[in-house]
Amino acid sequence: MFAEFSKKHLSLIRLLVQGSFTIFCLWIGLQFYRFFLWATAGSNYGARPPAVEAFLPVGALVSLKKFVLTGEFDQLHPAGLTIFIAALVIATIFRKGFCGWICPVGFIFNLQEKLVSRFRTPRHPPKWLDYPLSSIKYLLLFFFLYLIVWKMNLSAIERFMHSPYNLKVDAKMLLFFLNPSFTALGIIASIFLASIFMRNFWCRYLCPYGGLLGLLATLSPFQIRRDPDLCISCKKCETACTQSLLVAQKHVILNPECVGCLECVAACPITECLYVSLAKRKKIALFWLPLAVILTFFLFYLSARMSGHWQTVIPDEFFKQIYNR
Ligand code: SF4
Ligand code: SF4
Ligand code: SF4
Repeated sequence: MFAEFSKKHLSLIRLLVQGSFTIFCLWIGLQFYRFFLWATAGSNYGARPPAVEAFLPVGALVSLKKFVLTGEFDQLHPAGLTIFIAALVIATIFRKGFCGWICPVGFIFNLQEKLVSRFRTPRHPPKWLDYPLSSIKYLLLFFFLYLIVWKMNLSAIERFMHSPYNLKVDAKMLLFFLNPSFTALGIIASIFLASIFMRNFWCRYLCPYGGLLGLLATLSPFQIRRDPDLCISCKKCETACTQSLLVAQKHVILNPECVGCLECVAACPITECLYVSLAKRKKIALFWLPLAVILTFFLFYLSARMSGHWQTVIPDEFFKQIYNR
């Protein structure tokens, strides 16, 4: 019964989950703004929310390399590293569920898609355009991996982590959003404009974080499968697919762009024609995959809090000094 309910209302449930994470992120942004004003303008004190570090994935990749090399967990931006590892683990086990169910940026583009799809039929970009555009995010990803994973040695990592840039990168990010340059506004507007014509333009073609999660997701034992004997080729799954994947033409969706949103499964009118499978055979109920994604995310958060890997060791007074430099 709950399985039926989750299939029927999957889109709404997903919007509510993503919306909740987005509202939480906005609240974190406001809390951090209060802290920033205290540090730079002497207004009332508000504690710095550690979760603001979720928006620093490049620094988290540097911290992860240090953790792998030395076993030392980043104490300067521990929440950022915790969230980054959680996203990587979720992708490896539960597909790109971080993108499909948690990321607020993905949610914003989902909302835009829901609005514009009322006025146009979603179209699959032609392959001659899709392939070169898709390569952009992988080029960006390999650029970062080359610079950080390949080139940076331990002393370069230490220098980066203790640099003024890294220590106040959260404030720099806040200022970027508070006072965006004309160029930044133009780029953001262009991405929204491009998303009108091509679904999820940012996530599908430009986001290197999503590219990394997608590559890891190819290792996941969870898969979307189609039973060709039951399929009536109505293509409702393809219309529903948030990533414009050709679901009705595959037996199994192995594409790294699949975000595990399950909109295709919910849209399929034939019972058990399109389903989630575990380890190639076992069919599982629809709600298990998103539930596992969300629970794993909170498990990482709780473990980090309880083990002292969430709160930075940097004193507030030091942030005050470095923000004002
Ligand atoms: S591709 Fe990037 S922006 Fe899009 S949902 Fe995934 S992590 Fe978020
Ligand atoms: S194939 Fe299904 S689960 Fe994957 S992105 Fe498309 S709609 Fe979502
Ligand atoms: S929605 Fe279901 S029945 Fe229709 S094409 Fe897709 S898999 Fe086949």
